[in-house]
Amino acid sequence: MKYPEDRWAWVEIDLDALRDNTRALRRMISRDARMMCVVKADAYGHGAVRCAKAMRSAGADQFAVATVTEGVELRESGISEPIVILSQPPMETIQRIVDYDLAPAVYEQDFALALGECAAAAGKVAPYHLAIDTGMTRIGVNWRDVIELRHSIHFHRGIRCAGTFTHFATADVPRDWDFAMQSRRFSEAVGALRDAGYETGLVHCANTPATIMHPEVHEDMCRVGIGLYGLHPAKETRREIHLRPVMSVRGRITRVERPEVGTGVSYGATYRVPKPNIQICTVPIGYADGLSRTLSGNMDVLVNGERCRQVGRICMDQFMFEVSVNNVRAYRPTRAVESGDVVTVLGNDGNEFISADDMAARRNTINYEVVCDFGLRLEKVYV
Ligand SMILES: *Cc1c(COP(=O)(O)O)cnc(C)c1O
Repeated sequence: MKYPEDRWAWVEIDLDALRDNTRALRRMISRDARMMCVVKADAYGHGAVRCAKAMRSAGADQFAVATVTEGVELRESGISEPIVILSQPPMETIQRIVDYDLAPAVYEQDFALALGECAAAAGKVAPYHLAIDTGMTRIGVNWRDVIELRHSIHFHRGIRCAGTFTHFATADVPRDWDFAMQSRRFSEAVGALRDAGYETGLVHCANTPATIMHPEVHEDMCRVGIGLYGLHPAKETRREIHLRPVMSVRGRITRVERPEVGTGVSYGATYRVPKPNIQICTVPIGYADGLSRTLSGNMDVLVNGERCRQVGRICMDQFMFEVSVNNVRAYRPTRAVESGDVVTVLGNDGNEFISADDMAARRNTINYEVVCDFGLRLEKVYV
């Protein structure tokens, strides 16, 4: 394992866990259907290129990204499978889309025709995926206007419909009325396209929760994201599939102090050392690394297999935590720590574990955001 040299902090990515999760999700999908692995936002902070290659070796058929730049990065690293851009990008990117054989989501006539013109000029036929808004109100052509849009772009020989898709707003909620409604509208729209004689390409709508909880909407392809990274989109998916978290976040203690009682710790001195024999330890991870400042004084870290309390405000590049040494009243007296000891912010150490769900709950957000944030600046180590 190669640790970063310039900083005692890193994100550990467990590629074995990633491959296991990919295979476990692949097993939930029929053999006739494809698996599209969503690696947008640098694979939810896990590193898109390394993750895409691991997923490919474990059964991924296609990849999905959020931006043209993300798609280009995958192509340049040697990914030759289809790459879909999950929303319709700006017109200015069309030349790059064609050059790199990316398949954008399409829902506007102007964009579709411009894509067709550019592809035709290059002697190509550009694949696209028709995005349909069935009730989430984010992207796509309204489900009522699908035929009209297709009719208006149908004549162009420079484009080819490689897929037709929608996205659910509430697939993570069991027995949800909106999910049923979106699902029905999608079926109607796909049916109308077929009746009108339009090619639909691969029909797809299932994200991770729908892949796990709704086999009836798998269609031709499932688009899985969060589950690949070993995180659950809802508590209900936990009993359906075993997933292993892929990301851990660790650092090393850069400094240990034993300050006098009353000494302030960090900006604002919101925390003061309350008693003797407390070690205040510094770790070079801060909110610019994705450790949200809202966690200040409200999170634990693991050192030598034990939980320790983070104290004082989390800074941009560092935070502090306390170790109560020789605390004879504690069930297990904590051993003193030293500079250089490994600190776990996310992941496990001995029998203790800090999960992204845990951290998300303390931050009032979801596990998706927790891992995306840690991808921002910390160097990644693949193990
Ligand atoms: C992000 C995204 C997904 C993946 O969602 P998960 O909940 O992570 O599985 C699928 N489809 C679209 C359109 C997305 O934007």
